[in-house]
Amino acid sequence: MQELELNSFMQGLTRRNPGQPEFHQAVEEVAEKLIPFINENPKYLDAKILERMTEPDRTISFRVTWQDDEGNIRVNRGHRVQFNGAIGPYKGGLRFDKSVTLGTLKFLGFEQVLKNSLTTLPMGGAKGGSDFNPKGKTDGEIMRFCQAFMTELYRHIGKDTDVPAGDIGVGGREVSYMYGQYRRIANEFTGVLTGKNLAFGGSNARTEATGYGSVYFGREMLAVRGDDYNGKTAAVSGSGNVAQYTVEKLTQLGAKVLTMSDRGGFLHDPDGIDSEKLAHIQDLKNVQRVSLAEYATKYPNATYTKNARPWGVKVDLAFPSATQNELDENEAQTLIDNGCILVCEGANMPSTIGAIKIFEKNQIMYGPGKAANAGGVAISGLEMTQNSMRLQWSFEEVDAKLQDIMKKIHSKCQKYGQEDGWVDYVKGANIGGFVKVADAMIAYGVI
Ligand code: GLU
Repeated sequence: MQELELNSFMQGLTRRNPGQPEFHQAVEEVAEKLIPFINENPKYLDAKILERMTEPDRTISFRVTWQDDEGNIRVNRGHRVQFNGAIGPYKGGLRFDKSVTLGTLKFLGFEQVLKNSLTTLPMGGAKGGSDFNPKGKTDGEIMRFCQAFMTELYRHIGKDTDVPAGDIGVGGREVSYMYGQYRRIANEFTGVLTGKNLAFGGSNARTEATGYGSVYFGREMLAVRGDDYNGKTAAVSGSGNVAQYTVEKLTQLGAKVLTMSDRGGFLHDPDGIDSEKLAHIQDLKNVQRVSLAEYATKYPNATYTKNARPWGVKVDLAFPSATQNELDENEAQTLIDNGCILVCEGANMPSTIGAIKIFEKNQIMYGPGKAANAGGVAISGLEMTQNSMRLQWSFEEVDAKLQDIMKKIHSKCQKYGQEDGWVDYVKGANIGGFVKVADAMIAYGVI
């Protein structure tokens, strides 16, 4: 069997998937680390596992028609990418954002396959969403859109088939509207979505899980070098669910968070964003739904810089927790020149390939999203468990399980990513996530 070679593999993939740069980027990051491993393991090479794993099981696209408050008929496009179901029901979030395309969802679905495998739980990988832009929409419009979206999606999902959840633009409110519609159409009360409200089958600590999990993962990386968060400064990007709970946990564990950001720019508070200030940010973002610029009017030492990202601020730790490609090569170099020792990704693929190369060259602690942010989907997996058992664990129980899972993910990354004197977490996460899925696919035969 002819060995795989990165350039020709990527050329083939690009040809088969034209106009999907983010999908190409996600595959390239994985293929670069996996190809040497596959070439050394003929069972994966012979079974053409990489070729099979980079082609989704199926993609579903549909029209979503809804009515705005003025009575105008609006049309959006919805998708669900059921990427790989080898190790469990398809699982992954829904993203509502004007930037969403099928290519975006394929990158996210592909990442999700490896991420879900790393969680140790039996979940396949999927992603879905729409180019619907929730910004500036009223509650009524959001509700009508969510109901219309679920009216089509419901026939493709099920508690043992495909279990969606939230992502950018889809939080507790949207999950509730969609779950309400599913329950009504399917006439059954099952755990078909995760991230549900605590009153109807949600899990404790699911809201906090992605942010907390990322901070727990960073704690494990620091512990390898005998270090911890105490007295360290951190830059966090984003101000949504992931960023908010990253800030909360970092502060609880002794770090001082200097930045957060939103689509308009970034906030820098040299005094640190403590719990009281975070509560103010949560009110601005979750209730008032306004810009972070408002923060600087209440805390005069803080500044809000428009159309800029936080990576120029001198910090020890960076937690990119907003969106894809929000940290480029130059910003990676600036972070390192300023003494940053750890980058831990709460978002999916926030660092460009060029940025990752800089982290690797400098051998800093770099936790890629598919490992570092896997706590969210892990607790979604535990929400499915609780729904099947028809019970609800306490916050403390779920949080303890989350800490344990993040430890296990870290150990798996170490197992496959240990290099001379440092850990290549990208290699560790990619190979660690790949092995279980690949072995399952081989066991099934040629299907
Ligand atoms: N959207 C989250 C992620 O990127 C969570 C998915 C889920 O809970 O299913 O992993």
